[in-house]
Amino acid sequence: MTQTVAALVWFAGLVGWYIIRYPFERKAKKIGVRRSLLDWRERSLLAVAFLGLLVIPALYALTGFPASLDRPFIPAIAWLGLVPLIGALWLFRRSHSDLGRNWSITLQVRDQHVLVKRGVYRLIRHPMYSSFFLLGLAQMLLLPNWLAGISGVMGAGILFAFRVLREEQMMLESFGDEYRDYMTHTKRIVPWII
Ligand code: SAH
Repeated sequence: MTQTVAALVWFAGLVGWYIIRYPFERKAKKIGVRRSLLDWRERSLLAVAFLGLLVIPALYALTGFPASLDRPFIPAIAWLGLVPLIGALWLFRRSHSDLGRNWSITLQVRDQHVLVKRGVYRLIRHPMYSSFFLLGLAQMLLLPNWLAGISGVMGAGILFAFRVLREEQMMLESFGDEYRDYMTHTKRIVPWII
C-alpha cells in the first residue's frame, strides 16, 4: 500500500460512515423529541469530534499540513489500519440499526423512547463511541502524521469523556431501575473490560 492509497482508504471509510448515518439522520427528523440536552457544551463536543475525525485529517490528506509532524510511512502499519476501519464501520452500522428510532446525534429522549438492550447493546452501553475510537485508531495507522493521526482518537476521547456521564444520567432519569439494572450487566465501550 502506498501513502496515497492509505489516504484514499481513510477517505473511503469516512464516505462509508456517512452512507451508514444518512438514512438515520433523515428519519430522526420526523420523530418527536421529549427531552433535549442540546446546549453550547454539546455543540462544542460534537465540533471537537468533527475536527479530530474529519477536519484535521482531511486538511492533512489534501495539503500535507503539518509536514513537520510527518512520521515515516510503513505499508504494513497502513494495512493493519484496515482492521479497525472495517470494525468501526461494522459496529457503527450495527449500533444504528439496533438503536433504530431511538438514535439521535445529540443527547435526546424521543417520544416513545425504549431502552435498547439487545444486539451490540447487550454487551456494551456505548458501541457508537467504541466505533468512533476504532475509526480514530484506523486514522492513526493509515495517516503517517502525528497530528492528523492522533486527532481522531483525541476527538473521540473528548466527546466520550465529557458526554458519557451526562448521557447515563439522562438515561437513569428516563428509565430508572431498568437502566440501573442494565448498567450492572454491561460495560461502557469494551465488552467485559471497560
Ligand atoms: N451512547 C450510545 C448512543 C449514542 S446516540 C452509543 O454509543 O451507542 C445518543 C442517543 O442514544 C442518546 O440521546 C440516548 O437517548 C440514546 N441511547 C443511548 N443508549 C441507549 C439505549 N441503550 N437504548 C435506547 N436509547 C439509547
